[in-house]
Amino acid sequence: MADQLVRATAAAGGIRAVGVITTQLVAEARRRHGLSYVATAALGRAMSAGLLLASPMKHLSARVNIRFQGNGPLGTVLVDAGRDGTVRGYVDQPGVELPPNAQGKLDVGRAVGAQGYLYVLRDNGYGYPYASTVELVSGEVADDITYYLTTSEQTPSALALGVYLEGGQVRAAGGLLLQVLPKAATDEALIDLLAARVSSLAGFTPLLLAGQQLGDILETLLGDLDLTIFPETQLVRFHCGCNFDRVLGALKMLGVDELRSMIRQDDGAEVTCHFCSSVFRAQRHHLEALVAELEQEVTSG
Ligand code: ZN
Repeated sequence: MADQLVRATAAAGGIRAVGVITTQLVAEARRRHGLSYVATAALGRAMSAGLLLASPMKHLSARVNIRFQGNGPLGTVLVDAGRDGTVRGYVDQPGVELPPNAQGKLDVGRAVGAQGYLYVLRDNGYGYPYASTVELVSGEVADDITYYLTTSEQTPSALALGVYLEGGQVRAAGGLLLQVLPKAATDEALIDLLAARVSSLAGFTPLLLAGQQLGDILETLLGDLDLTIFPETQLVRFHCGCNFDRVLGALKMLGVDELRSMIRQDDGAEVTCHFCSSVFRAQRHHLEALVAELEQEVTSG
């Protein structure tokens, strides 16, 4: 099934629900970055969460950045997700592999680290981004994001995220976010109900593997609560906006001395995009043009 996102409401608008399937885009991230199993699970969960967090934002150019800075061996886990359904991301140490945890699952908590911080930056698309930081709860990603949503955004939330790998392939990935909206946010019973229902799911990926659609899963969870599933399905995909012009812009910021030394030592420059692992090769003549531009700016400035 194509990667996609489905939105719904329930309980007379008191509950917002979003589900996302990210199997293909997580597989693409794994291939691009050469991610280990546990790195695939960590980044895949975080990318799914990014798309879920971005989905209710109004402006189509709105974006959410999620950065895990834990004390685990993966180092930084960074995701940039958009309301437009695009997402990209990376981990500092993509090759780190760990033995399974006590439950026999990929040990994302240990790989990310249970100590450290989760940074979330929301850019609503109007030019006033706001940043927020919480301490990590477990490094398992879903716990940490839930804690962030509940404390920092004051939106009681229940979140399930999953990435299932088998035989070196990503077989299923995605997530589900249920939120109690402000009009119902004091309804403790409703909040408890959602948390209980999400934790009653035997994981999210087993449902996908069993052939369930997002609509089926939402129906199971909220069917008795006046569920309305929005008819339009949004396609989601891995996408990075990097290009050669931006690479040249970044190189230019290094300044004349650094550019000259690159020309002298390497006859050019090779730049790898963190977010998508695309490699750009700037030739000597590109760098010489940047030097000339900088010198021109100095003379005319
Ligand atoms: Zn890129």
